[in-house]
Amino acid sequence: MTNQDDLTLGRRVMAMIEDLAQHTDEYGCLTRLYLSPAHRAAADTTLDFMREAGLKAHIDALGSVVGRLEGADPEAPALLIGSHIDTVVDAGRYDGNLGVVLGIVVAEALKAEGITPSCPIEVVAFGDEENVRFPTNLSTSYALAGRYDPAWLDGKDADGISLRDALLEFGGDPLGIAALARDPARYRGYLEVHIEQGPQLEARNLPVGIVSAINGITRARASVIGEAGHAGTVPMTMRRDALAAVAEMIGIVERASSKRSDTVATVGVAQVQPGAINVIPARVDFTLDARAPDDAVRHAMVQDILTECEAAAQRRGVSFTIEPFMESPATPMDEDLMAQLEEAVKSSMIEPMRLASGAGHDAVAIANLCPAAMLFVRCKGGISHNPAESITVEDADTAARVLLQAVKRIVA
Ligand SMILES: [Zn+2]
Repeated sequence: MTNQDDLTLGRRVMAMIEDLAQHTDEYGCLTRLYLSPAHRAAADTTLDFMREAGLKAHIDALGSVVGRLEGADPEAPALLIGSHIDTVVDAGRYDGNLGVVLGIVVAEALKAEGITPSCPIEVVAFGDEENVRFPTNLSTSYALAGRYDPAWLDGKDADGISLRDALLEFGGDPLGIAALARDPARYRGYLEVHIEQGPQLEARNLPVGIVSAINGITRARASVIGEAGHAGTVPMTMRRDALAAVAEMIGIVERASSKRSDTVATVGVAQVQPGAINVIPARVDFTLDARAPDDAVRHAMVQDILTECEAAAQRRGVSFTIEPFMESPATPMDEDLMAQLEEAVKSSMIEPMRLASGAGHDAVAIANLCPAAMLFVRCKGGISHNPAESITVEDADTAARVLLQAVKRIVA
């Protein structure tokens, strides 16, 4: 375990996180949306960090900060390390920022140890991971994977500002986007460290864990239509209560996800009509969000939910319709890179636990460019997207040492 007296890397990580947290668009809390003035300021600070660490760095056409440490063989396929520096509204300071800072700290540590990596190392601070401001999804990381859709530039924020205009204001270059696409032959892998944003590592008393896959997602909107009636006069046996039917369906969703391992499913919205205390509910519109690290498992779970909900609707004499509106495939992490992370975790005398990621990450986009793997860091109470987001300096130190070990193994 980490020596309590030697938290050099952890302290360095925390100090850089603290500096980045000063850049916010809203006074009194941390809000740093893609291409905002605070994002620009954070990108400039990140650029300074990278240069101080000895990286050759620049801000690219989409606002991502890219720093490069040359390798003994500059032509050898490079190792990418990164995450994002944009945040949600009223965010915590570690989400995304931790992975960026760790990449810089590890590059710095390699230099300090006098190690020249066999291949170049590129550290990237992406800018559009949280998908809050524009209707885009991981646009800056998809650009590196050569999958930037130029139509995304026409997307507008809540104030009617297009991504194109915001990018120009930021100092970016819409005409330079296509050139950001990397050649897959020149990249050997991508490593991303991120806070877990869930409670599993804390529950197992582990500082870090290895991500096995990033969950695929199915989202759907469903409606149940029954019949309104007087809550006092219609006998129970003669009702077609839409909400009672949905209550049964929520139970079906819960059971279908609980009986499988690593799957989750949620009914997050349920709107009841007419919604009066003395009226039997006539209609309920609800949503389904189902996730799994394996697409076949997710499809089977969703199919079970549909079949059983239809049966429940039939029994109750209500109509049931469901319309999927989003399908995002799972992203399995690369076995070789996971094995390197696992060895690095073991060398810190930590049990190497594998866990699926329920949230999306830049690694989803970069997996289209090269093999990708992720290391999760325990966060207090599993809380994220919240100012209460918290990690310890000890865990930051452990994460830095594990990443450093893994990088050494990969670029030795
Ligand atoms: Zn994140």
